[in-house]
Amino acid sequence: MYYIDPHIHMVSRTTDDYETLAKMGCVAVSEPAFWAGYDRGSVDGFRDYFEQLTSFELQRAAGYGIQHFTWLCINAKEAENVTLSREVIAMIPEFLDRPGVLGIGEIGLNKNTPNEATIFLDHLDLAMRTDEQILIHTPHLEDKYQGTRMILDMLTGDSRIDQSRVLVDHVEEHTIGLVLDAGFWAGMTLYPVSKCTPARAVDMVEMYGPERLLVNSAGDWGPSKPTAVPDFIIEMRRRGHSEQAIRRVVYENPVEFFSQSRGFVFDPPEVSELTNL
Ligand SMILES: [Zn+2]
Repeated sequence: MYYIDPHIHMVSRTTDDYETLAKMGCVAVSEPAFWAGYDRGSVDGFRDYFEQLTSFELQRAAGYGIQHFTWLCINAKEAENVTLSREVIAMIPEFLDRPGVLGIGEIGLNKNTPNEATIFLDHLDLAMRTDEQILIHTPHLEDKYQGTRMILDMLTGDSRIDQSRVLVDHVEEHTIGLVLDAGFWAGMTLYPVSKCTPARAVDMVEMYGPERLLVNSAGDWGPSKPTAVPDFIIEMRRRGHSEQAIRRVVYENPVEFFSQSRGFVFDPPEVSELTNL
């Protein structure tokens, strides 16, 4: 089955991973900007990173027939440096009209600090001023519930925000209802050590239905599995879900969400290929 991985950090993966993803049916990936494993020292470090995301990474993916899309921001881990964060936010518009750019992300909270909240709000303002979609990272483990509540409060506090153009990622059983009930899209991340397993993700599809729900690998350079979405497909099949129902979550939903972005110029696979697999 053809699918899209809506959250994966391919800059941290090998070209062999692109080949494996292509063989498994991946036709497109979306790559949010994230932490480099170290705090970057200047705005030029981010400019170089955005250059990589909007040029070389597209070519590397295209070599395997995969379309590459991206999101730009300074991540929450580096948002403690408010001065640098504001320099980066002022520079981001240089890249917003580059090929494949879908919006601002993954912004969010890490330790739920006041500086992180300040920079989150600055990103929201940038997205509203530039008419961009938003992809949001919610904190891990013990910080997730409180962080998700803080994020939803900040989002709903800005009357300019259209909930249908915001994806709140890394939801789990205790946060998915908050996100969907407020009208946002929700992303489930399949991770080998934290976040969500394929079985738990299918549980959530069964409990909440497929509407406004995405599933991703969030593959990066930590313990993660770039082929986690096919694991989800297999678990859905094992439980007897139809191919149509599976395709809705792993292909049609990301296309529907991304299509709200002017940067989503997508060349879909042939319809006959989609239905026959
Ligand atoms: Zn991520």
